Amino acid sequence: MTAKHVPLRTCVQCRQVRAKRELIRIVRTPQGTIEMDERGKAAGRGAYLCRNKACWEGAVRQGRLEHALKAKLSAADKERLWEYGQQLPCVDTVLPEATDAPETVGEEGDQAAATVPG
Ligand SMILES: [Zn+2]
Repeated sequence: MTAKHVPLRTCVQCRQVRAKRELIRIVRTPQGTIEMDERGKAAGRGAYLCRNKACWEGAVRQGRLEHALKAKLSAADKERLWEYGQQLPCVDTVLPEATDAPETVGEEGDQAAATVPG
């Protein structure tokens, strides 16, 4: 067993469990405002998201943050969260990606096309 204790938190969007410091806490303060709590110490109800653009976009769009914070986000809040997400890298995406890569089909006819008269 490892002796080092690392606090773990779950991203409210992708449900991945990560070390707390790898996540960003969003907090609903006692005043009812929504803040990005980068130090993870602000008072209030918190929710965690990965440092992943896709998670922020999804959480804002799908209302996961509202659900996790038990708060209604205003349009301004959503915009702020969205903006914050835009500066994050789109890394470590665990969402299933659509595989729409075109299949490579061997092209025929190249050899037969040119008939050199001679
Ligand atoms: Zn996530």
